Amino acid sequence: MRIFFLGVGEAFDETYPNTSLLVSVPGVSGSETENGAAHILLDCGFTAPAAYYRYAPRGVEEKGSEDQPGVRGDEQRVIQPDVIWISHFHGDHFLGLPLMLLRFWEEGRKKELVIFGPEGVESKVWSAFELAYPGFRERIDFPLFFLDVEPLMQGELFGVRWATAANAHSASAPCMTLRLDHAGNSMVYSGDGRPTSASGQLAQGADLLVHEAYALEGEPPGHGTVAGCLELARGTGTQRLALVHVNRNVRAERAGEIRGLLDTVEGFSAMMPEPGAVVVLES
Ligand SMILES: [Zn+2]
Ligand SMILES: [Zn+2]
Repeated sequence: MRIFFLGVGEAFDETYPNTSLLVSVPGVSGSETENGAAHILLDCGFTAPAAYYRYAPRGVEEKGSEDQPGVRGDEQRVIQPDVIWISHFHGDHFLGLPLMLLRFWEEGRKKELVIFGPEGVESKVWSAFELAYPGFRERIDFPLFFLDVEPLMQGELFGVRWATAANAHSASAPCMTLRLDHAGNSMVYSGDGRPTSASGQLAQGADLLVHEAYALEGEPPGHGTVAGCLELARGTGTQRLALVHVNRNVRAERAGEIRGLLDTVEGFSAMMPEPGAVVVLES
């Protein structure tokens, strides 16, 4: 399992793109998956698509030969995700979808796409798409499936097991934590919000916990903190913690201090990744 940190920022950050990750899971079923892996995009906010096309991996030619080497290099287009997870309906987590869908059309996408997220995800996505590009919906002619998800649900997509739990973020845009498991590897992505007992339970024993830490400490309404994430990681026995969605002013002024604190953690490793960072989980 390979996790690409495309964006790590909060909604209004002018420096860091909205938090968005690509999880590539090798050796899964699916005839049209690229690079022999299924690719699951986690959240797609206003500024995430530009980060996606900058940092997501490029495709590998499946049938390489001496005349046509396996990797065609820079002209090969960026891979297309098979699945997109929307943690909640805030713009910095889903309003990049109109651009992504239209770019897939421009690229001649044929393979199916599954978008899963909170209840009503299909109407939310098409409403946003129609506002952004009126009358363009008929161009989206690749198979597109939507899946409504509730907290404490689980299922399987492209051979990857997923499960959800509610966290504490916004009454008008409830957010879920997502866990992905495959071949002995696991990762958890919080979306936005303070952890709950349910999301803590979901994160038990995860190889990688990616959690939002909007503030350093205290009880910011509807958001996590650096201190709270460290406590959560200790309690869940996770091996690695990655902090994202840090408030832009906190990040600009205190990144060194936060990293210094993360370096002193014992029992697990902790990081505050930059866009383009990659974490590889191997069983
Ligand atoms: Zn957010
Ligand atoms: Zn939010």
